[in-house]
Amino acid sequence: MNKRDMKESTHVKKWEIDDAAELYGINHWGADYFTINEGGDVVVTPFGRNNGPGISLYAIAREVEERGMSMPVLLRVENILGSQIKLLHETFRKVIRETAYTGEYKGVYPIKVNQQEQVLEAVSEFGREFNHGLEAGSKSELIAAISMLNNRNACLICNGYKDEEFIDLGLYAIKMGFQCFFVVEVPGEIDLIIERAKYLGVKPHLGLRIKLSTQAEGHWTESGGDASVFGLNMSHVVDVLDRLKEEDMLDCLQLLHYHIGSQIPNIRDIRAGAMEACRIYEELVREGANMSYIDLGGGLAVDYDGSQTNYSSSRNYSIEEYCYDIVESIITVLGKNKIPHPTIITESGRAIVAYYSVLLFNILDVSSHVPPPIPKDIPPSSNGLVENLLSTYDMVSPKDIQECCNDALYYRNQARQLFKHGQINIRERALAENLVRHILIKISEVGAQFDHIPKDVSEITKLLYDVYYGNFSLFQSLPDVWAIDQIFPIMPIHRLKERPVHPAIISDITCDCDGKIDSFPDYSHEKKSLMLHDLKDDEEYYLGVFLVGAYQETLGDLHNLFGDTNVVSIHAQEDGSYQFIRELEGDSVSDVLAYVEYDVRSIKNKIKQLAEDSIQKGFITAKERKSILHSFDEGLRGYTYFEKE
Ligand SMILES: *Cc1c(COP(=O)(O)O)cnc(C)c1O
Repeated sequence: MNKRDMKESTHVKKWEIDDAAELYGINHWGADYFTINEGGDVVVTPFGRNNGPGISLYAIAREVEERGMSMPVLLRVENILGSQIKLLHETFRKVIRETAYTGEYKGVYPIKVNQQEQVLEAVSEFGREFNHGLEAGSKSELIAAISMLNNRNACLICNGYKDEEFIDLGLYAIKMGFQCFFVVEVPGEIDLIIERAKYLGVKPHLGLRIKLSTQAEGHWTESGGDASVFGLNMSHVVDVLDRLKEEDMLDCLQLLHYHIGSQIPNIRDIRAGAMEACRIYEELVREGANMSYIDLGGGLAVDYDGSQTNYSSSRNYSIEEYCYDIVESIITVLGKNKIPHPTIITESGRAIVAYYSVLLFNILDVSSHVPPPIPKDIPPSSNGLVENLLSTYDMVSPKDIQECCNDALYYRNQARQLFKHGQINIRERALAENLVRHILIKISEVGAQFDHIPKDVSEITKLLYDVYYGNFSLFQSLPDVWAIDQIFPIMPIHRLKERPVHPAIISDITCDCDGKIDSFPDYSHEKKSLMLHDLKDDEEYYLGVFLVGAYQETLGDLHNLFGDTNVVSIHAQEDGSYQFIRELEGDSVSDVLAYVEYDVRSIKNKIKQLAEDSIQKGFITAKERKSILHSFDEGLRGYTYFEKE
């Protein structure tokens, strides 16, 4: 237990919902969309906290299970997607009005951030009134985009490496009336585009992706800077300009694009990138290109930890400041030579979809650090180990805390050595380790009274966290936690009127020791445990992981053959009612086996043969064979996660 947790658990003051809100930080990271209701449930407020209804996530989780869908479930709250698209457009519009900017704003959604059909469908639906377009980075994404973007006034931006097929698809999109832009990423692409455009008789809309020298800080920002693998350097730009002039196609070049990375925590970098890009824009105008769009890529960050800082899981700016800084940078740079203001495009993905998905799962079990009580009469030991541990226990006091800490760890090691050499048995070792735990608990209690907790003591507290086993796979549902130590907000979605008393970490159900969550958001950026409640015998305990809508779904993998989770989307009404609008069943066991190339029919045959052989050999009866085959059948049809009964 760290000091703060300790104080909370011994505090006499009555536990209030506000305490829960503070502990889990929900009013900081929840933006306008998540808070706690009077009943102690987390509620989603899709129209804003002070606007319209709050819908209990616990009620949703219960209803989902009543409908026969097991946990884990990925819940999408569609209205939040709509609210985020609206927020981005309305904020840009407001800033454009207030600064007398003469261009407009057009957003596009980068498909790679979440490619699921449901997501594209919702983006197209909610984005229609704002002409929100799509950005595709591969052939597959482009085909998905063309099929989903039912709006010829929206932009369709093609990034990524393009072969002939990719280019032809884009040119056909232009033929069909779409505002489709090819963003030239590598110098060689331009020749192929010119060739195919001539062949198909289509005038292409061209953009250049430029490599800025501005490099942003943060986790995901290697897309910018001189070392970036993407984009054209200045001499490439000159080559492309010359090539287009040669072909008399300079008027096709209309757009300048850059992307300096995702989740840019510091507004300073956003401003620096925009200023640098505008200078290049100005030069392209001067060269005679038909410039009218500036596309600033992604990067608009999400405040995952709620700290509002330039820490990598946060951002030190609001959406409004983001819009202001972009618009003002363009006005400043282009104003010098009175260059007409371009249409602004941003490719915000994370900020659009992160908030709209929540991973819900139940806790299956807890491994508690609390040892059984110290037995009354312990027989004397031949090696003095138990006696030493008992006297260390009695000695723990503020002044001897460091020494006791050393002793406890020394004797623990001694117990393990003695066991290894056969000098104590398993019961003696268990007793010694339990005594060590009692000492460590006492040390951490005494240590918690200090203003400054000694380092060794704070290390010890980590040994005292309970492990809560969650019914999910980190690798499938939260891959960035594993891959890059990303922090997501996580908390119980109910029982928030009760004081949580166990400092815990969370383990998933893969057999991989990396499948755990042991860093949590805090205002000091990170804490190493999460306070959780006792499990009840007759009630599920549900946790939610929030802000997981961006990047997690397709980056997830089949580690241990845990497959896609069930997905449920809800659509809320202003009166607080909601409908389940899209239910997607997760993978079954046979689905995931098929992904790794098993032929499910041949598995069934093999098991049939095995059962037959077992009858022949007298291991099982014909009746048992029937039950066994039935079980295998059910198993293949079942969900890959832990199912009840
Ligand atoms: C990944 C990517 C984005 C999305 O960035 P976010 O930070 O998620 O908004 C936008 N544009 C390009 C070119 C990208 O590669």
